[in-house]
Amino acid sequence: MRCTCYCVTNEPMAMHPVRHGPRTMFRYPRLTSKTSLCIFSPLNIFEACSHISPLYPSFRLVKLLCRRLHNPEFHPTMSIPTTTPLRILISGAGIAGPVCAYWLRQSHPNASITIIERAPALRKEGQTIDVAFEGRRIFDAMGITDTVMKYTTKEKGIDFIDKDGGVWGHFPQEQDGGSFTREIEIVRGELARILYEVTKDTVDYVFDESITAIHQDDMEVEVDFRNGTKGKYDLLIIADGLSSRTRAMAFNQDVREPIKSLDEYIAGFSLAVDKTKDGDWAKWYNPPGRRVILHRPDGFGRMRSNFVHIDYSPQTRLVCSSKTPVDQQKEYWAQLFKGAGWDSERLIQGMKDADDFYVYEVAQVKMKSWSKGRVVMIGDAASCPSPISGQGTNVAITQAYTLAAMITQYSDHTIAFKKYEDDLRPWVEGIQKLPPGAPRLAVPETEWGVRVLLWMTYLAGLVVRTGWVGIISKWLGGEDKGHPLQPAEVFERRRG
Ligand SMILES: Cc1cc2nc3c(=O)[nH]c(=O)nc-3n(C[C@H](O)[C@H](O)[C@H](O)COP(=O)(O)OP(=O)(O)OC[C@H]3O[C@@H](n4cnc5c(N)ncnc54)[C@H](O)[C@@H]3O)c2cc1C
Repeated sequence: MRCTCYCVTNEPMAMHPVRHGPRTMFRYPRLTSKTSLCIFSPLNIFEACSHISPLYPSFRLVKLLCRRLHNPEFHPTMSIPTTTPLRILISGAGIAGPVCAYWLRQSHPNASITIIERAPALRKEGQTIDVAFEGRRIFDAMGITDTVMKYTTKEKGIDFIDKDGGVWGHFPQEQDGGSFTREIEIVRGELARILYEVTKDTVDYVFDESITAIHQDDMEVEVDFRNGTKGKYDLLIIADGLSSRTRAMAFNQDVREPIKSLDEYIAGFSLAVDKTKDGDWAKWYNPPGRRVILHRPDGFGRMRSNFVHIDYSPQTRLVCSSKTPVDQQKEYWAQLFKGAGWDSERLIQGMKDADDFYVYEVAQVKMKSWSKGRVVMIGDAASCPSPISGQGTNVAITQAYTLAAMITQYSDHTIAFKKYEDDLRPWVEGIQKLPPGAPRLAVPETEWGVRVLLWMTYLAGLVVRTGWVGIISKWLGGEDKGHPLQPAEVFERRRG
């Protein structure tokens, strides 16, 4: 069932029809001197009145009746914020937070939207992440794909090499999943910066801030901030990553409770290009001992390197935790990769000199519910699928977008949050199902295991043109799991 009506945003003056359906996405309607048909629907007038004065139960009653007559499943709520602006707090200025803020701003021009970020400035750490499938289509709809493409790493593909640098598997870049390198490979900090740039003028950013307590009731959510102040909001959106402390507070659980570790740790850092050795191809090198070196161009004249290690000991988890001083962490990784072969000594020196060294745990987040009352989660905080899935960023962007769509479409946040989760959970859980043997099979323990892996990559490389590489890439989790995000509706944005 679809209806056609008109909605309001803060986009430049104009007005466009919007279609509402079970998976309606925005079409960026714009305000004109003419007024939205939706605004003057009886439902919205009564909704507006009851928001102005929630004490008037009669308005609520009529609103309920209107809801019955006017199927709420398909009714937009965009006119409400024009009378009582929504107050939305987002915790985390990573990837999911700014994307969600962007879309909420499209439909709620008067809403107060604040993003708090615990770090004193945007975080520049992080290696290459990729955006494909739904995430790519959402970027298209945001009109930022060209900008993003400008800052990609320009990586041409990936070579699997042995300890002498000899190439075994050779996989050129392909768009959307046919290879290990996608069309949009971008350093995480660059993507975060681009998303900040497109939202900073319409969203309030507060850095060096975090939530220390959350209290909520039927009417609002009140938070205590680290700086000692308090704030009241209609909705709190948690987008602050894998180890979210805000999530722990909201769901009254330990930070680690929903985190399922894959016992794999990654130390990332950047180093200067050595023109005699580095190029625009990534290198994947497996020393034995469940170790990997992944060395990639960043598109800005530097290389981004990862030391990867699978280890089940609690001692390693402790060393890799953010509580351990960086110098100790660097020493641990230097010892681990000392004499590992290929170019390991140069990379160890690069790591020691790096000021963007960063360690993270490869893990998944599994929460029974993505929301509680007026608090809802997106991105890694809700359901990190891990970098092994190859879709962490894609999931984060899609969740951010879908949540904003649902908040826009349903005036009742309980319905919006439920629809958001019902729509995405099966898809996300599909992505969280990692291929059998992952991540251990790609990180062998023995020399023999490394040889087998190299032969496999060699054979796969040979048949790269026959489509086998797509099969292997899918086996490694890089396929389009096919969330039915309606591209046609997304693409419609700037048309009309
Ligand atoms: C520094 C960093 C480096 C990363 N490097 C890689 C990488 O190399 N490869 C990879 O695949 N993935 C990496 N990731 C994860 C990747 O960004 C996410 O998997 C994905 O993009 C989903 O993004 P997100 O917005 O959900 O979470 P994130 O990108 O993790 O963003 C969360 C944001 O919330 C902030 N934050 C954390 N706690 C609080 C708090 N209590 N209050 C307020 N703000 C808070 C963080 O500083 C961060 O800016 C990295 C994440 C970070 C934060």
